[in-house]
Amino acid sequence: MKRKTTFVLFLVCALITAWVVIITDKQVRDHLGSTLYIIGFAITGCMILVLAGYAWNQELVKTLKSMHDTTDSVRLVDTPAAGDESDSDEIIGLARKIERMARSLQQVEASYKGIVEDQPDLICRYRNDGKMTFVNGAYARAVNRKRTELVGVDFPYFTPGAAIADEPYTFETEMPFDDGRRLWIRWTQRAIKDDERNTMEYQAVGHDITERKEAEAALLRAKEAAEAADRAKSEFLAIVSHELRTPINAIIGFSKMLGSTTLTLDQREQVEMINSSGLALEKIIADILNLSKIDSGKIDIEHAPFSLRMCVQDICAFFAPKARSLALALDSKVDPGVPEIVNSDESRIRQILTNLIGNALKFTERGGVTLEVSCARGEPVEPGSTRRVARLFFAVKDSGIGIPPDKMDHLFMPFSQVDTSSTRRRGGTGLGLIISKRLCELMGGTISVESRVGEGSTFRFSILTDFEES
Ligand code: ADP
Repeated sequence: MKRKTTFVLFLVCALITAWVVIITDKQVRDHLGSTLYIIGFAITGCMILVLAGYAWNQELVKTLKSMHDTTDSVRLVDTPAAGDESDSDEIIGLARKIERMARSLQQVEASYKGIVEDQPDLICRYRNDGKMTFVNGAYARAVNRKRTELVGVDFPYFTPGAAIADEPYTFETEMPFDDGRRLWIRWTQRAIKDDERNTMEYQAVGHDITERKEAEAALLRAKEAAEAADRAKSEFLAIVSHELRTPINAIIGFSKMLGSTTLTLDQREQVEMINSSGLALEKIIADILNLSKIDSGKIDIEHAPFSLRMCVQDICAFFAPKARSLALALDSKVDPGVPEIVNSDESRIRQILTNLIGNALKFTERGGVTLEVSCARGEPVEPGSTRRVARLFFAVKDSGIGIPPDKMDHLFMPFSQVDTSSTRRRGGTGLGLIISKRLCELMGGTISVESRVGEGSTFRFSILTDFEES
């Protein structure tokens, strides 16, 4: 039993004994006479006082204990451990603990305050009517007002509907600062809830994103300027190419006519040179015109049904005489999984294949060229539809000279050629691959190459298409 309880019990027992003695012992009663009543009342009063004191003490201990239990859930910093429980007096012990907890809480508060105050971000809290209850130093400095003056003032970007949402809500605003600057602030608003998930108030944290915004704007301006320059370049090329075609057509036409007249051997050679140069120029102009059209977005991709097998056959038939003249084999393999009829732009697919097979034959001296086509069938274009998405895969393989690894990265760039020497034997504009790449991309695909010098190259491309399921 605790010392205090023993002492109280002893005191109460002593008083009861005194009371019993007075009541039962006649001699004492007679001796005391009329003072008996005074002493009786005094003893009763003392007993009530002692019992009331004891009850009050117990009540106090209970209250302190509950305070202690509540604060105990708070994680405290720097709480001295040993010796607390050994405090002989319960009230003093509890009071000391609570005092220590209060000190710790003060430390925690000071450290949190420090974090909030040292923030360059603007922080404020406000009630659901938009009136602010707290602002940090950064916010006060931004609007050049005292923090106390801002309490009760409306949060200017208060959006109640949005802030009520459980998820944090983010938005960007341009905020006028008192020093005349207008900064872009990214606000994150969220509701502060109590344990019962009731919203107590809202908190908004504003982060300065002006630099990012300015960089974005500069980037956009640069992009627009580059696009405008690119458009101007494409338009210029289109006009120039168009204007060049007329005289070149005349050169080709007249050299053809001249070739059909009676000429000496030397003259015939010269006329043939004029004709082949004219044709090469025509090809360059056609390619430039084509690329500039693609780049300026003036090219439309068709979406019409056609037979891919027929298309492959036609292309192989077109190149067969050339392959024969070079003593090269030219084969095609169309996978049985490829649909008979696909919806796409046949002429663009022909253009890509013509570029790739033309190159393969151009850069192959022995062996041959193979064109392979396969397909991956996908989902219906929309639920319940009989039309299904498909990806067509093409591979043009050759056993030619191959491409050195250090040149691979530049292949799909305009005017890029592996052999740039003035003595190179194979002609070309260096535009075929970039045109093919752009066309693939316009048709939802990509193009790539694998190659080994002296062993050959494989150009692969895919396009997105669809077909009617039979
Ligand atoms: P070009 O009109 O010069 O053929 P391309 O853009 O079609 O222009 O090709 C660019 C360059 O890529 C070619 O000049 C050649 O050096 C290289 N190249 C393309 N295809 C092949 C291939 N099958 N084998 C070896 N090199 C190739």
